[in-house]
Amino acid sequence: MSETIWCCPVCGRKLHPADRSLKCEKGHSFDRSRKGDVHLLPSNKMHAKLPGDNPEMVRARRAFLSKGYYAHLLATISQTVCERLPEGGTLLDAGCGEGYYTAGVLHFLDSTGKTAQCYGVDISKTAAGYAAKADSRLDCAVASVFHLPVERASCDMLLSIFSPYCGEEFRRVLRPDGWLIMAIPAARHLWELKAAVYDTPYENAVREYALEGFTFEQSYTVSREIVLDDPQDIAALFAMTPYAYRTGAAERERLAALRTLRTEAAFEVLVYRNTLNKKENSHGI
Ligand SMILES: [Zn+2]
Repeated sequence: MSETIWCCPVCGRKLHPADRSLKCEKGHSFDRSRKGDVHLLPSNKMHAKLPGDNPEMVRARRAFLSKGYYAHLLATISQTVCERLPEGGTLLDAGCGEGYYTAGVLHFLDSTGKTAQCYGVDISKTAAGYAAKADSRLDCAVASVFHLPVERASCDMLLSIFSPYCGEEFRRVLRPDGWLIMAIPAARHLWELKAAVYDTPYENAVREYALEGFTFEQSYTVSREIVLDDPQDIAALFAMTPYAYRTGAAERERLAALRTLRTEAAFEVLVYRNTLNKKENSHGI
């Protein structure tokens, strides 16, 4: 069993593989589940019995993504990773969900002959379990992206795909010149869906590219029209959006009445490089 990037969520020391568990030198031990993921979320950081997306939500998203509606985004992310990740490099998907993008990237790397050590973290146990099953080479942990149980400066690249951003923590686990690849919805993402449901649809607010501590390198716009003719897919897509939580009864009725939907699926893939300087590094950040 080879070493990993995982650290003990109790004492912070490096975890070493031992049979189906990971153990630190203080004797804290974490078993892998039958699916292969390891639970590294300390109970005092669990603010709910089942934190993160609930199992129903995870399964709906998994079914939606498996139909390839966002394949154009996966293709751009894969290409972006492949061009920059060093051979044999370490990639961590911070907020990997059910592993659609993480496993997809790994398969793309296979097709180019490139190898990588791939890790994923998600706070939802259901999601991390699916991610671990998506590819046996993918090492997944249940954990928060705000407290990554990951060694300092151990990653060549982080992926953050529609996932919460935690700059300080991302910079800690990245190597000094490591890469951060982010995907965010573009202004017109799902415009036609919003126009069908809301009286006054708004474009998504697209934030400034600048991120403290990172050098912005490049952005790619990825867009295509997707056609959904299954009401279940339409419902799953809507539930994946952040505005699903603030939608009233009238809008929900309009959504439920949609039999088919033709809408733009538009994203931005942003490329950053860690600009951690040597002085900060020597202070052990
Ligand atoms: Zn420990």
